[in-house]
Amino acid sequence: MSFTGATGPDLSSFVTAPLVAPVLPYVFEHIETAAVIADHNRNVIMLNPSAEKLFGYKSSEVVGRQTSMFYADTEDFRDLGRKRYNEAASETSERVIVRYIRKDGTVFEGETSGGPIRNQDSSELVFLALITDVTVRMEAERALNRLHEITSSRQLDFSQRIQSVLYLGTMHFGLPIGIFSRIVDNEYEVRHVVHPEDALAVGTTFELGTTYCSQVVKKGDAVGFHHVANSELKTHPCYKNFGMEAYLGAPVLVDGEPYGTLNFSSPSPTRPFTGQDIELIRLFAGWMGHEIARRTDLEELRLAHQELEYQATTDSLTGLFNRRHMEQRLSQELERANRHRRPMAVALMDFDRFKQLNDTHGHQAGDNALKLFATEVERIARKMDVFARWGGEEFLAVLPDTDLEGAQQFLTRLTDGIRNAGFAHDGVDIDLTISVGVTMAQPDDTPDTITSRADSAMYQAKKAGRDCIRVAEMTPEMV
Ligand code: GH3
Ligand code: MG
Ligand code: MG
Repeated sequence: MSFTGATGPDLSSFVTAPLVAPVLPYVFEHIETAAVIADHNRNVIMLNPSAEKLFGYKSSEVVGRQTSMFYADTEDFRDLGRKRYNEAASETSERVIVRYIRKDGTVFEGETSGGPIRNQDSSELVFLALITDVTVRMEAERALNRLHEITSSRQLDFSQRIQSVLYLGTMHFGLPIGIFSRIVDNEYEVRHVVHPEDALAVGTTFELGTTYCSQVVKKGDAVGFHHVANSELKTHPCYKNFGMEAYLGAPVLVDGEPYGTLNFSSPSPTRPFTGQDIELIRLFAGWMGHEIARRTDLEELRLAHQELEYQATTDSLTGLFNRRHMEQRLSQELERANRHRRPMAVALMDFDRFKQLNDTHGHQAGDNALKLFATEVERIARKMDVFARWGGEEFLAVLPDTDLEGAQQFLTRLTDGIRNAGFAHDGVDIDLTISVGVTMAQPDDTPDTITSRADSAMYQAKKAGRDCIRVAEMTPEMV
């Protein structure tokens, strides 16, 4: 049997030698991959120089000891014994990630290949493990997976997603303070923050020059320093004021324009940042920029939709609802009043001698009178009352949860209010009054039946001399 590990050399020619062990150290002397060779009992025969460096042991310290000493989890030792490091195991080029433990007790993740090696007459069997430290790569992979989870989550809203990414960054980079900032001119504002003591509030502002982010802005790219005390930055205000030793930040662009920064910092020095850290924070910051842009687009859509809806339901002169919208509302309110057996009043109001007002004082005076009506309604009506411009100088009111007496009181206040508003145009006082017809909702009412009753009552008010309120006549079965 021969061994061809994916990262290892083809050993077949060497293992034909009568003694495997003396040959292998020579083979692995100069390779960068850590190699551990063990005998058939899984006791160490040797570590190559790379393995000595990786585990922190001299080969001589561990010879004869069981390889279980290298495993952070005993279960992995047993598991690999069953699958890989046993006489019957078949050749495999598959790599596994194993958590190993160094002499100093620290744990790392090693991508491992290898297995049994025999010389040709099978008189000797050893186990070979080729190990590459992939801790950094694995952590980055996990961070990316987590980023993907956060950014694609439908459970989290915008602000929760930003917060989760900040938290992820603090964990991944080992920097406990995470900030998403907005920078406008020279002002740096904290927009989102993760802080171990909650000591930094959203909305806090700093002069840009006093933050390390000024370096990011200057460079237009990610910047990291892990031990400011040992660098020329130790005169920086952020170090003098806050003693921040370590910092990693990247610019956030929204639609290609500088928006702010994503940054992580710590009062304690950390390990030096790697190219991978820089890549990762660029990626995080890039995602944040997209998220902001997307939210801005959504917000604009929402506003546009709101504006369209406003236009579709509102009368542009008075700002009251238009007739089309009122027809829908009236139908809903009728249904609701009947369902809950609550009284509801509907009133039709029409300006008196409006044609004459226009003819005498001009169309603009007429328009102003209509606006004044809306202002009075705004002042007097309850929140639940619904008003619409029903026609030229006619208005319809729907007063939910209102009995006839209440409706009459309210309408009296409104007619009084308009009469006494002191309406004038071009310095000329103008008498302004309305006539009102009011009626109560009946169980079998439709929008048509109830408005035509209100209309008849309004006509009665006109006939009675205007500037008054009339209640619709009820047929006997209505009362
Ligand atoms: P009455 O007391 O019987 O209601 O008399 P009136 O003059 O108000 O009745 P009529 O229905 O004959 O006239 C209504 C006038 O309202 C006709 C129209 O010129 C005017 N009007 C309708 N809409 C507007 C508007 O938007 N602005 C102005 N300035 N006038 C309007
Ligand atoms: Mg009129
Ligand atoms: Mg009219």
